[in-house]
Amino acid sequence: MSGASAARAEARVDLEAIRSNVAALGRHAGAAEVMAVVKADGYGHGMIPTARAAVAGGATWLGVATIDEALALRQAGLAARILAWLITPGEARDQAIRANVDISVNSPWGVKEVAAAAVAAGQPARIHLKVDSGLGRAGATQADWPDLVDAALKAEADGYLQVVGLWSHFAYADEPGHPTVAAQVRAFTEAIALAEQRGARPEVRHLANSAATFTLPESHFDLVRPGIAVYGMSPVPAHSAPADLGLRPAMTLTARLLMVKRVPAGYGVSYAHEYRTTAATTLGVVPLGYADGIPRDATNIGPVLAAGRLRTIAGRVCMDQFVLDLGFDLAAAGDEVILFGPGDSGEPSAQDWANALGTISYEVLTRIGPRVPRTFREIIQP
Ligand SMILES: *Cc1c(COP(=O)(O)O)cnc(C)c1O
Repeated sequence: MSGASAARAEARVDLEAIRSNVAALGRHAGAAEVMAVVKADGYGHGMIPTARAAVAGGATWLGVATIDEALALRQAGLAARILAWLITPGEARDQAIRANVDISVNSPWGVKEVAAAAVAAGQPARIHLKVDSGLGRAGATQADWPDLVDAALKAEADGYLQVVGLWSHFAYADEPGHPTVAAQVRAFTEAIALAEQRGARPEVRHLANSAATFTLPESHFDLVRPGIAVYGMSPVPAHSAPADLGLRPAMTLTARLLMVKRVPAGYGVSYAHEYRTTAATTLGVVPLGYADGIPRDATNIGPVLAAGRLRTIAGRVCMDQFVLDLGFDLAAAGDEVILFGPGDSGEPSAQDWANALGTISYEVLTRIGPRVPRTFREIIQP
């Protein structure tokens, strides 16, 4: 990458960590295969490099939300099985079918649209039927499931498609032992039995996200779908740190101080002076803001490693900048600060940011905007 050391800011992505995280997930998955979920630009890490590293780590499937994401993976030459699950009425599916992308279907109208697209594509579609086993989001309700299965099996008999997958998603996997978890495994098992009784012969049945991959072997079925753990974050942060699970956070977000200046006590800092210096001190200006994905809610809250110490953002986060109070520590314009990373230098983690902001590491990572260049540490052992 160009001039890494001179960049205003950068998100360094450790592809070797991604490869090794996926390998660790594969060990937990046992006999089940691994679908690495790389939606939302690989949770902000760069979808294509992430997908390649995941495949090097043993992932045989890639999971994405949209057809556009699936087609981008194919265009980059990724040959793994791909499942796309966020498809709205009227959206073109023929290109996805021609690109051998598997498609999730939630309802009989989805079966109709896929069948029509298969005709346009000139080849049968591969579909995964989704049941709502208790998340209350996408998927056919258990009441609607028999109709969906019958519609899909009819289209399969007519040669339009193959029902290759049956699947569902958890509501509370990050709270191991929550009663809904076992209830969802039961509901999913019943939905599979019903579909198979009616004639479905799925190749894969899948339910587990990252948290369930680590905590619930009976949810592994034929395939697990980890996302956040691929990127090295703990899916159960209340119970385990990444290292406890054999994971290493893959992204390090850094910036270089735009300027450093001495100011007196009582100096108002950033918009509306939400921070005021209590003594003569040094301010460091960090050239990252909410347009880069640093939440404005991180005002006076966000943790940053700068000039050898952990600091808290001083005053309001602006669109492109925020300020740190560096006290009497030595710092100069151009010095690197670290917002989050794996912790090797004592920097905060994306989980620390999530905790400070009352959110989850997923949101911290996926918010990092396109203005922040991603640079990549390549895989060591392919
Ligand atoms: C995002 C997503 C996943 C991955 O979940 P993690 O909690 O990141 O492991 C799995 N399945 C579906 C349907 C998803 O939307």
